[in-house]
Amino acid sequence: MKNLDLWNMLRSVPSEAIKPITAGRLKGFSDINPVWRMKALTDAFGPCGFGWWYRITDKRMEGQGSEIRAFVDIELYYVLDGKVSQPVVGTGGASFLTNEKNGAYTSDECYKMALTDAISVAAKALGVAADIYYDKDRDKYTTVEPAEKTGEKTFTPTCADCGKQIDDKVHDFSVKYFGKPYCRDCQKNHSRK
Ligand SMILES: [Zn+2]
Repeated sequence: MKNLDLWNMLRSVPSEAIKPITAGRLKGFSDINPVWRMKALTDAFGPCGFGWWYRITDKRMEGQGSEIRAFVDIELYYVLDGKVSQPVVGTGGASFLTNEKNGAYTSDECYKMALTDAISVAAKALGVAADIYYDKDRDKYTTVEPAEKTGEKTFTPTCADCGKQIDDKVHDFSVKYFGKPYCRDCQKNHSRK
């Protein structure tokens, strides 16, 4: 098998699996049917659980300002030429709590959506739907929400009390010891877990 054989097999998405997003912040971008993605992986490697599978390595909620997002980390594995791959990692995110005009909105499907997102990120590394991500050179993952979608914490975290910007170190420290991101000043008003 040549290096790009698999990529070329997985890269194109049939039009019926592409749903244009016609409203909201992601207007003009496309949604890819997650079932098509599973079918493409199954077509390339065999049934899920035999030819390819994933393991959830972490799931968590993270607050950012007045929003809470769910994140799921996965490792995707596949069998090629009789050998199991190294894990292909992916992080996906979805909103759990958002404050909208009509009040707070929570999604009880957030972990499921974050998982679907994580699979799409890992599968993308194998070339799944590469034409959508690459040719158009714009998608919600690279254009609108680059930080969360690649799993890198490049978004600017803010204090859950006063809203002040905090750096990653303060964020991680505070989440670890206080359960929520607080700035150094506000940490004094809370007791450690
Ligand atoms: Zn603060």
